[in-house]
Amino acid sequence: MIIVMSHHATRAQVDAVAERVEEIGLRPEVSVGEDRSLIGVIGGNAYAYRESFSHLAGIQEILQITKPFKLASREFQARDTVVDVAGVPVGGDEVVVMAGPCSVEDEAMLLRTARFVAEQGARILRGGAFKPRTSPYSFQGLGEAGLEMLATARDETGLRVVSEVVTPSDVELVCRYVDMLQVGTRNMQNYALLQEVGRSGKPVLLKRGMSSTVEEWLLAAEYVLSQGNRGVALCERGIRTFETSTRFTLDLNSVPLVRELSHLPVVVDPSQGTGRWSLVRPMSLAAVAAGAHGLIVEVHPRPGEALSDGAQSLDFEGFERLMRELRRLLEATASQPV
Ligand code: PEP
Ligand code: MN
Repeated sequence: MIIVMSHHATRAQVDAVAERVEEIGLRPEVSVGEDRSLIGVIGGNAYAYRESFSHLAGIQEILQITKPFKLASREFQARDTVVDVAGVPVGGDEVVVMAGPCSVEDEAMLLRTARFVAEQGARILRGGAFKPRTSPYSFQGLGEAGLEMLATARDETGLRVVSEVVTPSDVELVCRYVDMLQVGTRNMQNYALLQEVGRSGKPVLLKRGMSSTVEEWLLAAEYVLSQGNRGVALCERGIRTFETSTRFTLDLNSVPLVRELSHLPVVVDPSQGTGRWSLVRPMSLAAVAAGAHGLIVEVHPRPGEALSDGAQSLDFEGFERLMRELRRLLEATASQPV
């Protein structure tokens, strides 16, 4: 349920309504807009309590949100969320490129890659230190040593850092080194992890589960938001379909769809989404044309020697070309009459 305050409502009236919500055992989430404030009422069957507010001043109307996700919905917040990743805005007018190796392998390769992607215009360095691999025999990542390398690369290049956290007990550790926590596709429904990253207050890049619907993905975001962490960016990374000629099917329908349903920014991962480096550039351009606020792309100095996901990693030349074409696309679309 959403309580829409009148645009004349005072701060004291908003506070009084929020207090009343707490008194009846529900949780208020206040969203102060330019025009008016909204109070999301979180808790089971909130709409049944609507009469409890009939005597409070400053309320314009009480709406039932029929969608299962509330805080993530456009109804709760009409304006786009801009996630502040240590000073880099994700979700604003600028398309943000996150780039780097699938896994942090060693310091030299990470620094080389970081310098190169920064020169080309990337703002955020990606790199897995904890890798949730399908096989227990595959490279599992360098752990904390990898996080230290990411922090060194950040200090040297000014890039912000995003890296995956795979278990609730590691959230605090990973938070010490990164600017944004990545929740991977295999963990999108790990509710204990979602709650812990929610409590951490760090910006979160929430991958779509490879077998999850858009609604389930938004409900996963709701887990993080409902812990008071509003810094969630969604990441479309491809889903399982009957098609086997690509690793996953990159569902670009979800980009404009999620933008209709939610105020959260959407980032696209064409590397995991296709599994083939030759498809990464065209699908990146398609993602941005479809309205993505950002891209997360795997780049490796020597993809043939990568310890993970080499087949879908761009080499430096490929990344340079992607960035060049992306700039051209952005110039072309910016000059379109709206
Ligand atoms: C990755 O980004 O390297 C990764 C493992 O992503 P996903 O969780 O989308 O597979
Ligand atoms: Mn990968």
